[in-house]
Amino acid sequence: MTHPIEITETSIKKILTRAEQGFLRNKQGRAAVSSHSLQPYCGCTFGSSLCGAGCYVRSNFNLTKGRSWGRFLEVRTNAAESYIHQVEAERRWARKHRGRFSIFCSSSTDPFLPQETRFGITRSVLEAMIKVPPDRLILQTHTHLVTRYMDLYAMLREKCDLRFHISIETDREEMPGLPPHASPVARRLEACDELRTAGHFTVVVVAPLLPIDDPERFFRRIGEVADAVVVDHYIIGDGTSDGRRTAKTELPKAIAAVNPISLELAYRDRIVEVARRHMPGRVGVSADGFAGFYE
Ligand code: SF4
Repeated sequence: MTHPIEITETSIKKILTRAEQGFLRNKQGRAAVSSHSLQPYCGCTFGSSLCGAGCYVRSNFNLTKGRSWGRFLEVRTNAAESYIHQVEAERRWARKHRGRFSIFCSSSTDPFLPQETRFGITRSVLEAMIKVPPDRLILQTHTHLVTRYMDLYAMLREKCDLRFHISIETDREEMPGLPPHASPVARRLEACDELRTAGHFTVVVVAPLLPIDDPERFFRRIGEVADAVVVDHYIIGDGTSDGRRTAKTELPKAIAAVNPISLELAYRDRIVEVARRHMPGRVGVSADGFAGFYE
C-alpha cells in the first residue's frame, strides 16, 4: 500500500545555511565539505525508498516535527529569490571564514525529486546561480533524474566549480527487508556516464556502504563512469563513533541478513582497497573524501 504524501507550498527566509560542525564541516575543521548547505525542499519523498531507511535526517525532530519521513514535502517556492537576497553577504562571510563560498545541495532532501518536475524549485535556484554563482557547487543526489538540467550545467560550469555527487551505496538492485531504491543502480551509473561524458566532475558516493556482491566489477564500472569515488561506513559516517544513530534504523538488520561482515568498519577498509586498485588516486574515504581529498 502506498501512503499519501502531504505537499505544502512554503516560503523560507534564508535558503543558505552556514555549515557549522557535523557532516559538512568535520570537528578538526580540515575537511570542510562546503561553507553552506541549500535545501530546495524541506522533507524528502525518497524517504520511503531504500536510502530513506537509514537516512540520518529522519530522526531530526526539528525538521520532521513528528511527521513520518518520506510522507511530507514542503516546497520552498521563494528559494531562488532568497538565494539572490542572501548571496552577497554569505559570499563575503564564507570567503573570510571558510576560504571559499561553496554550497552543498542538498544534505536533507534530494534536489531532483519527482516533484521537481511540477515545481521546478531546484531549476530556479540553478538559474539564479548562473546569474550570481558560488565559488563551488556540489549537487548531491540519489537519482538518475539529475541529468534533467544538462542545459543549465553547461552554463554553470563556466561560472563555478561544479561537482556532482551521485549516491550509489551498493551494486545490489535489491536489499531484502528494505523498500526498492528510489532510482535503479544501473540508471544512476548511466547518469554518471552522461554527466562525465559532458565534461562534468562526477563522484560516486558509496555511503552508507551496503553489502557489495561483486566489488571488483562494481569499482571497475565506477572507474569508467566517474572521476572519483568516496566510500563511507555508517560507523563514524553517521556522526557517531559506533554508528548508534543508524543502529536505531532498519539498516543494520537488513545488512546483517545479506552479509554480516559488512556491519564492521573493517569492511569499509577492504572495499577501499578494491576501489584503490581500480581507481588509483581517485578514492576518498569518509569526511575527507566528501571534502574532495582523494588518494
Ligand atoms: S535522498 Fe537523501 S535525504 Fe532523501 S531520504 Fe534518501 S538519504 Fe534521505
